[in-house]
Amino acid sequence: MLYLNSALAHFAEERPGCSFCTIEAKRELRIQGILEEMPEYDYYLRLVQPENTSHIFWECEHVQAVIQEFFAHIRTENGMGFGRANIRLDKSVFFRGEIRSNLGKAKAELIIYHFVKYYIYQCRFRQRLPNYLELRRDFNFLTIQTGNARKWGRYMLRTWEIFE
Ligand SMILES: [Zn+2]
Repeated sequence: MLYLNSALAHFAEERPGCSFCTIEAKRELRIQGILEEMPEYDYYLRLVQPENTSHIFWECEHVQAVIQEFFAHIRTENGMGFGRANIRLDKSVFFRGEIRSNLGKAKAELIIYHFVKYYIYQCRFRQRLPNYLELRRDFNFLTIQTGNARKWGRYMLRTWEIFE
């Protein structure tokens, strides 16, 4: 029991902070001239939000801004259309998709949500902040590759039709 308690305490201590919030915190500490060897350095890093699925794929401010901007873009004829940019994507839709009568749209929509999550996962793996323009560029490659697929592929090239 004693061992377990100390093991758990140790585990709690090692709780990793969000990779993206940590990158940003370190950048801010550097700007403020707070160096790694200073006692307050670790103190500030321990204030970073814990890294869990909900935070890193959705709630993290560095992720949320990129997600909303990206979906505003693909909802509006790649930025050319009107009217649908101000609809915010919902967390449960992002994680579970939506029930739709049009299976082609349902499939294309799910692929896009998974693609965005995979992009975030890659950023975390590379220890880099998600970037809206980079996500758009990666997504364009995907649409070129999948745009000829039958039934659902056409929606990858006409994403705004998914959200009409
Ligand atoms: Zn974060």
